[in-house]
Amino acid sequence: MPDPRPIVVSGMRPTGRLHLGHLHGALANWVRLQADHECFFFSADWHALTTNYHDTAIIKPAEREMFIDFIAAGVDPQKATLFVQSEVKEHAELYLLLGMITPLGWLERSPSYKEMRENITDRDLALYGFLGYPVLMTADIIMYKATRVPVGVDQVAHLELSREIARKFNFHYGNVFPEPQPLLTEVPKIVGTDGRKMSKSYGNTIDLGESAESTAKKIMGAVTDPARKRRQDPGNPDICGIFYLHKVYSTPDTVAWVDQNCRTAGIGCVDCKRKLLEKLGPAQEEMRARREALLAHPGDVDDLVQLGTRKARAVAERTMAQVRSAMKLA
Ligand code: SF4
Repeated sequence: MPDPRPIVVSGMRPTGRLHLGHLHGALANWVRLQADHECFFFSADWHALTTNYHDTAIIKPAEREMFIDFIAAGVDPQKATLFVQSEVKEHAELYLLLGMITPLGWLERSPSYKEMRENITDRDLALYGFLGYPVLMTADIIMYKATRVPVGVDQVAHLELSREIARKFNFHYGNVFPEPQPLLTEVPKIVGTDGRKMSKSYGNTIDLGESAESTAKKIMGAVTDPARKRRQDPGNPDICGIFYLHKVYSTPDTVAWVDQNCRTAGIGCVDCKRKLLEKLGPAQEEMRARREALLAHPGDVDDLVQLGTRKARAVAERTMAQVRSAMKLA
């Protein structure tokens, strides 16, 4: 019997330790979704090559750490299928076939293509693989006939491209793929310690389960509202990354206290950061303990991922049999 629940597919690139941006921007949502959706969550190791082609040695160690982070954050391999993209070779086949029908102009207009080319300047990204990234992403999603893809508002245009590719496939070869709909989720805004988007490429992250001590060091050095040059200058919490973290970690009373006292210079940024650390420090230590328990038995995590990968492969084989038949290639 096919699983009647909506199908959700989402992946992450294994390029380093996950951080608080991943936790609150994606993982917390995945944990909620796994309760009533059929979820496929994967390591996008081929995608990691699009920006990390020069340093492939980090991908596999980062992948294991990433799966440990997934599980430590509450993703349950009994409820969701965890798998490795490159171990389901059908993704490459579907990527190739979709590449045959995807107009170049669609890819060149992709907002993330433009954004990453502007922001990542320390390596050459004028590459076919980088431009074709959304085609591979489409293959990843529609392979499992995903009906929903959890995205933030800034990624809706990206998913629209996947829908267009799926539509074009269906137009030429018959109705094989549902068009994946965005599952828009309100996620808390988290920014890096320099006020930009939290990203490993910017070196501004606070990692998942980083020690309380190291977390404190980063928080105490983090950028706040630049208008608060002196203790008596009033600030605007709405543009401050520390306030965003308060909204996630602190009680509503504390959030209201910060909101009011920042604007009136009733507190200084040091007081505000210390207050945040009262909650953020222990939360990080709890996450660290869960990670360490998993790290003590890495073989168990590998087994769970292998099991998930076999399950994903079985689904992908079925889809590709349909694709080859629809395209009259079999
Ligand atoms: S008081 Fe808090 S919210 Fe206001 S600018 Fe300083 S750190 Fe940010």
